[in-house]
Amino acid sequence: MTQTIARRGLMLVLSSPSGAGKSTLSRRLLESDPQIAMSVSATTRAKRPNEVDGKDYFFVTPQRFEEMVRDGAFLEHASVFGNRYGTPSAPVEKILARGRDVLFDIDWQGAQQLSQKAKDDLVRVFILPPSRDELERRLRERAEDSAEVVARRMAEASNEISRWSEYDYVILNDDVGKAQEQLKAIVAAERLNRQRQTGLVDFVRDLTQAKAP
Ligand code: ADP
Ligand code: 5GP
Repeated sequence: MTQTIARRGLMLVLSSPSGAGKSTLSRRLLESDPQIAMSVSATTRAKRPNEVDGKDYFFVTPQRFEEMVRDGAFLEHASVFGNRYGTPSAPVEKILARGRDVLFDIDWQGAQQLSQKAKDDLVRVFILPPSRDELERRLRERAEDSAEVVARRMAEASNEISRWSEYDYVILNDDVGKAQEQLKAIVAAERLNRQRQTGLVDFVRDLTQAKAP
């Protein structure tokens, strides 16, 4: 019989300079692992043509965003590239309460705020591109932002990259299949972390108790 031991859900944070492949790796991880749910952020940024409101982001006005800040609706929030982004708390708490893991595609400011609030549950992964040229090529190829937006994101890249040492793991996203396997390996190992396996105490007690003759 396969024994499943109760565990506490992970809060898995993926950060990178824009265009390094966070969304791609997130999508692949979610498709391959039904135990993980995505945290959908709210943002004041304009919707890209291929994005779906409520799935990729909750697209809100600056006024609505400010109301949510005032109501304490965010686990963390920050300004990135002149727009505001925030993680709504309620869905995250619901997912964790059901014993599932939550994936966050947020920047270093968000990762720092979560580190203060949820240190024990947090696993932080930083994604690096193989080179600056390749990063720019990916941003252009994505073809969802204007040339001006691409230039601004390239200008911000060094600042983002300089945060790499604040993360627990670093993945170099050259071959996307390899990067995906590495991310899956991190998740598998972190789920086995002793302190996260909340059911171990009872399980080991049963294991060590001698059976009545
Ligand atoms: P981010 O979410 O970090 O801004 P994306 O996941 O949107 O980045 O990736 C940016 C672009 O690069 C997308 O067009 C994506 O298909 C492409 N891409 C992602 N990973 C790789 C890779 N390993 N090799 C080549 N192209 C990639
Ligand atoms: P994009 O506009 O390309 O979707 O995202 C821009 C940046 O904002 C990315 O680095 C992304 O990780 C970050 N981001 C997205 N949602 C959130 C959020 O809720 N909080 C924070 N702090 N950053 C976010």
